[in-house]
Amino acid sequence: MSTILVTGGAGYIGSHTVVELVKAGYDPIIFDNFSNAKPAVLPRIKQICGRSVPFYAGDIRVREQMERPFKENKIDGVIHFAGLKAVGESVKKPLEYYDNNVHGSTVLLEVMRDYGCHNFIFSSSSTVYGEPDKVPLTEDSPIKRANSPYGQTKIDIEYMAEELQKAVPEFSVTLLRYFNPVGAHESGLIGEDPRGIPNNLMPYLTQVAVGRLECLTIFGKDYPTPDGTCIRDYIHVVDLATGHVAALKHCLDKPGVHIYNLGTGTGYSVIDMVKAFSKAIGHELPHKFGPRREGDVVCCYADPSKAKNELGWVATHTLEDMTRDAYNWQKNNPNGYDD
Ligand code: NAD
Ligand code: UDP
Repeated sequence: MSTILVTGGAGYIGSHTVVELVKAGYDPIIFDNFSNAKPAVLPRIKQICGRSVPFYAGDIRVREQMERPFKENKIDGVIHFAGLKAVGESVKKPLEYYDNNVHGSTVLLEVMRDYGCHNFIFSSSSTVYGEPDKVPLTEDSPIKRANSPYGQTKIDIEYMAEELQKAVPEFSVTLLRYFNPVGAHESGLIGEDPRGIPNNLMPYLTQVAVGRLECLTIFGKDYPTPDGTCIRDYIHVVDLATGHVAALKHCLDKPGVHIYNLGTGTGYSVIDMVKAFSKAIGHELPHKFGPRREGDVVCCYADPSKAKNELGWVATHTLEDMTRDAYNWQKNNPNGYDD
């Protein structure tokens, strides 16, 4: 079976994808510098998979470190999750974001080219579509200049990989544009463990639910949506992980550029999420309204039909599954991997 290098494989989406890769019979190798992950995730992955997964500590920006797994293994493809992802932080530290995400991806792609590894799957984001002209978003919706350095790094890496594919036609470049990943593995052993106060809605909800935070502030209540709060396409992280496996099966050794939205196709408002979460915990989750958050897109959800038709993949987890599993993870690990 194919050996797949997973950069950022100790992180939130990466760890869930490693588990699904093992389940599907692939041999993943994790590469991570733990800048936003904890080593404690590795034994948990082992516990779920029933075997350990090889691991390299390294930084994608450092060529000698990035080369090691290629020198020591025959790597068939790379799933590239490693990167910094906090939108607000990227506004304050743009150079760090370009260095880590864009420069890091350049080093990785150089090493892949030099070692003759031509299968590249990249973690892109619905953020490349900016404020949509219309929803649902298809893969040929226009790419808009991003409203944060983080979002711009996703656009830049997409373009860089596409240009490389033109220059080296053996490359199979797959760009997966994720909508809003939430939830956790049903075992409650792995999940999202953000540093500090969470920026994203779901980890904020789970931390209020376990009493680590007091009250959710809903950012804005006068958006032009049915209940006045923003709408997103939340997708269970395990569905996202199986989307990677489906993309790998379909795109491995198929030269070209392949682009897929990974979403459910259903949009939920912030209020929908609070209600669903309150149901999961059996009482109303403390929440209040606050001002709008700068830069928020009003309404964004996917048309996932291309992934369904070409990859045979659909998201199967419901909103109830997402809230239940997110809560289960947080309850079992109130302080994340530090417990
Ligand atoms: P995460 O922070 O949990 O995972 C990223 C991993 O990459 C971490 O384990 C981190 O330690 C590692 N890493 C960062 N810089 C590195 C470097 N220079 N060298 C080696 N390892 C490095 O984030 P995630 O939520 O799992 O996201 C994974 C990818 O998906 C990211 O590229 C992110 O931008 C993208 N994405 C995430 C979301 C989301 O909402 N979570 C949405 C769309 C796209
Ligand atoms: N949100 C909120 N309070 C929070 C965090 C998020 O009301 O503490 C809202 C946010 O304004 C957006 C939605 O929840 O409308 C999803 O936000 P998130 O940051 O999770 O995803 P993104 O906006 O990056 O798609």
